[in-house]
Amino acid sequence: AKRKRMGCAVYDPRFDAEAGNHDRLSLTGELRQAVEEDQFVLYYQPRLDLASGAITGAEALVRWQHPVRGLVPPDQFIPFAEQTGCIREITQWVIGRAFEQCARWRASGLALQVSINLSARDLLDPELPQRFAELLARHGASPQWFLLEITESAIVDDPARAHDTVTRLHEMGFGLSIDDFGTGYSSLAQLKRLPVAELKIDKSFVLDMAHDPDDMTIVRSVIDLAHNMGLSVVAEGVETDEVHQLLHDMGCDYLQGYHICRPLPVAQLEPWLARDAAQHGTTAKET
Ligand code: C2E
Ligand code: MG
Ligand code: MG
Ligand code: MG
Repeated sequence: AKRKRMGCAVYDPRFDAEAGNHDRLSLTGELRQAVEEDQFVLYYQPRLDLASGAITGAEALVRWQHPVRGLVPPDQFIPFAEQTGCIREITQWVIGRAFEQCARWRASGLALQVSINLSARDLLDPELPQRFAELLARHGASPQWFLLEITESAIVDDPARAHDTVTRLHEMGFGLSIDDFGTGYSSLAQLKRLPVAELKIDKSFVLDMAHDPDDMTIVRSVIDLAHNMGLSVVAEGVETDEVHQLLHDMGCDYLQGYHICRPLPVAQLEPWLARDAAQHGTTAKET
């Protein structure tokens, strides 16, 4: 049975698409205040490198620690923030925190590559690369430490501008990944022109692949496609040992999912990583 993850958050009708103007304004204000008052928190989900058996990366996933409603999952406020434009401030906060955290890990000898999600709207912001450069300098971080995850829809919305931003980020030294691959409508020709390093197979194809021959075929095809294009491939949503084995046998490069580890706050992630390294005799080494 599929696990339905209920956020700990209390339902708030203002998140509804039909919410009135007043509700939308008050929520936008609350999100802006949340940025100022540091109410967001980054969780990190480890990613497993199948070739070495080591955890070599982690994806930063934002949550809103709301003073009344508790921990609000990103699906309940990111789409809204994208519509209203305050995603810009949230992205700025996420990037700053992730750069700072990764620099701290590197300083302590932990060479994790950190993946960060960008929204479609971020790619339409011509000042984004400059702001990233400032944050790198502020935190003493190197762009090679990061993979920026973008979605196919971000490219389809405005291919020329998205291409321009993505190219500039690539030239700065950031790695780029296509998130939720297979759910959007980008053409392969468009993808080929983008300097991306990896495809991330959407979890909707991975969750049930052991019992769904169509999903299995899709996953196998994406792995082959990625490799034929010279790209790495990651599967997200790996929940069972069976799926883990299948992906290993298909030659997938990296895995992410509850079977390996749930997204964790830093205070829980660090001991988990230490236990994992002790168990498997491997750890992410400085490169
Ligand atoms: P995503 O980037 O595709 O992230 C993967 C989502 O799948 C995460 O949900 C993660 O917790 C969940 N997941 C991981 N392993 C499993 C598994 O084995 N089974 C299942 N069922 N789910 C799994 P989360 O953290 O709720 O994030 C949802 C989405 O919100 C993300 O999807 C991403 O699109 C967006 N998001 C999260 N953080 C940020 C952020 O900082 N900025 C932006 N722009 N978007 C973000
Ligand atoms: Mg992602
Ligand atoms: Mg995503
Ligand atoms: Mg995804």
